[in-house]
Amino acid sequence: MKPVSWQQVKITGSFWANWQKINQVSLYHQYRQLKKTGRIDAFRLNRGAGKKILPHHFWDSDVAKWVEATALSLWQNFDRGLAEKLEKTVKLIVSAQQKDGYLNTHFTVVEPEKRFTNLRDSHELYCAGHLIEAAVAHWLATGKTLFLKAACRYADYLCQVFGPRKGQIRGYDGHEEIELALVKLFRVTGCQRYLSLASFFVEERGKKPHFFDWEARNRGEDLTTLRRSYQYYQAHCPVRQQREVVGHAVRAMYLYCALADLALEKKDKSLLRTLRLLWEDLITKKIYVTGGIGSTREGEAFGQAYELPNDTAYCETCAACGLVFWSHRLLHLEKKAKIADIMELVLYNAALAGISLEGKTFFYVNPLWSGGNHHRQSWYDCACCPSNISRVISSVGQYAYSSSEKDIWVHLYMESKAELHLADSQVILTVKTDYPFDGKVFIKVEPGKICDFTLFLRIPGWCRSWKLFLNGEEKVLPVSSGYLRIKRTWKNGDYLQLVLEMKTEYLQAHPEVRFDIGQVALRRGPLIYCLEQVDNKVSLHRIILPARPELKASFRPELLGGITVLTGKAYYLTAANLSGWLYREAEAFSLQPIKITAIPYYAWDNRKAGQMTVWVRRQEN
Ligand SMILES: [Zn+2]
Repeated sequence: MKPVSWQQVKITGSFWANWQKINQVSLYHQYRQLKKTGRIDAFRLNRGAGKKILPHHFWDSDVAKWVEATALSLWQNFDRGLAEKLEKTVKLIVSAQQKDGYLNTHFTVVEPEKRFTNLRDSHELYCAGHLIEAAVAHWLATGKTLFLKAACRYADYLCQVFGPRKGQIRGYDGHEEIELALVKLFRVTGCQRYLSLASFFVEERGKKPHFFDWEARNRGEDLTTLRRSYQYYQAHCPVRQQREVVGHAVRAMYLYCALADLALEKKDKSLLRTLRLLWEDLITKKIYVTGGIGSTREGEAFGQAYELPNDTAYCETCAACGLVFWSHRLLHLEKKAKIADIMELVLYNAALAGISLEGKTFFYVNPLWSGGNHHRQSWYDCACCPSNISRVISSVGQYAYSSSEKDIWVHLYMESKAELHLADSQVILTVKTDYPFDGKVFIKVEPGKICDFTLFLRIPGWCRSWKLFLNGEEKVLPVSSGYLRIKRTWKNGDYLQLVLEMKTEYLQAHPEVRFDIGQVALRRGPLIYCLEQVDNKVSLHRIILPARPELKASFRPELLGGITVLTGKAYYLTAANLSGWLYREAEAFSLQPIKITAIPYYAWDNRKAGQMTVWVRRQEN
């Protein structure tokens, strides 16, 4: 199973076309912010030594991720204004490259003497990684080589500086990213040294004696005053010995992406074993029902097993994007729909909540409960999230399909046209659907010439009942690893109708998640729902759902860009007189019938401020 390029899939309508329009508005907005805050002009290298050191010396990565997201977006929907901004920015970035290939605005002009002296904290190679990813996307989208050549020169320089040989730095970055970027660069250039360097960075991580200690001693630092444990950087032990997802969630995701890339490129079974253990730990103990990850604010990190508080949930948007990237890679190693289930969950819920419906405000933190004071902002000092969610939306089509010599997989259902390459033919799939609100999917198959291949259609984990029609005739076919398997001789004009039953369900957490006990979350199809006070004019924590779900789903085209809402009856906990002494006998309380409305979690905080909750109390049987 091979991933398809984002260039092979065109989003043609419905849900994601709408989001790609929003994303385009967002890219203009982000450009204005990058310009206003000086991030783009930093590439003019005129900040100079001695100037105030900015708290975020990884500004370059914000610009690079915008370039990447914009290049991806322009491939989908060309826009002259954005294209001009993109080309201007790319030229400016390349103009900042030094003779030796180095390219980093902060360490070129502000602290040039500190180049590669603090990999632990400086994000220097993290910025390099994002420049490389941006350059690859720019080249693929435009065919222009200027930026890609600069990225190769930079990577060549890194190949000289880092490595096991005498005189080279035997170290790695505190914030992973360079590793996956070097694999990407290897894949488009075929240069083996980039793959070797990625592998070197991964294998060195966590080895003893510890590189971060060596580096700190060289800086004359006192090792007893270290602020963070090495778990924060996933550098507490060699990568192949790691068994639990720990530390900074975004860093962890980018590292695991690189592990998956290397496991695939090198057919490395031991890395795959490591990945399986890490994945198991994540999905059985450390993920929210929305797909959000990284529960604690301290260190933007994973908490202990089952430590998943709702109000203080950190769930950085970037971590959700990172999990989309990782699950997409792992899916191709494992070929199991269960992994695509997580990819879908994160995409439609934890990640998509990161951007508002008008595209100009963003969440950094994505809690599952809010008292009404948590809102998206138009920008952040540490502005990693906006361009990250834009990268995902711009290239969302790539997550929907995979192919091999004789097989095609459809993982996600989105209105699109995909060109898929088999060994000896090219197949065009045209998908029509109102997913994620409706489970009916129409797929037109055009193999060009009559040919044999197997089409695998994912039956989502949330779906209990489905029907498949081939050229109008119902078929009962086997499901293996979560995919319906349709093997036949295909011809132009063949079409499929997949009907996935979307029922509203209650989800309950593992009983060890103490924050969710006695409560349920609402799910319909791939969407997790929430209650907002703007629809339910009461204290949300006092709402009690009936023991069995009795909610009606109805599509409201005028609401929040067009969503399916869930409405139904529930109860409200009250007492005859609630004034006075805070406590009273339990018998004094009663339940009053009320009507409630739930909306998809991704769409919250787009109207009047108020409480929001994902988990709702439920009546005992
Ligand atoms: Zn972020």
